[in-house]
Amino acid sequence: MRMYTESGGGDPGGARRRRFRRPAVIATAGAIIEALPLWLRGYGVGGNVVVRCRQGHLFTTIWIPGASVKALRLGWWRFQRCPVGRHWSLVTPVRRSDLTGRERRFADKHQDIRVP
Ligand SMILES: [Zn+2]
Repeated sequence: MRMYTESGGGDPGGARRRRFRRPAVIATAGAIIEALPLWLRGYGVGGNVVVRCRQGHLFTTIWIPGASVKALRLGWWRFQRCPVGRHWSLVTPVRRSDLTGRERRFADKHQDIRVP
């Protein structure tokens, strides 16, 4: 039997944790959460996304999750101006792979203003 009588072997104080108080961190996390279903379903995110309005018009818009000033966001839907029919409408993202070549070209030709 041995006895250890070592003394003064205190913990080195542990790593100091950084506190994330910035709301930007929360905003980024929110954007990722919002973008995830889009990524998973094969839509382009963080750039040009083909959308379809309620009247069936196809056009390309910039869809940046969490950052939108020109459209009223309703989760999956957005309310914004359709440059094809020149009217306001609800639009939803469309998978590029679901479009025919002709539809894709049409959507590429019709882009709305380049502001998210
Ligand atoms: Zn339209």
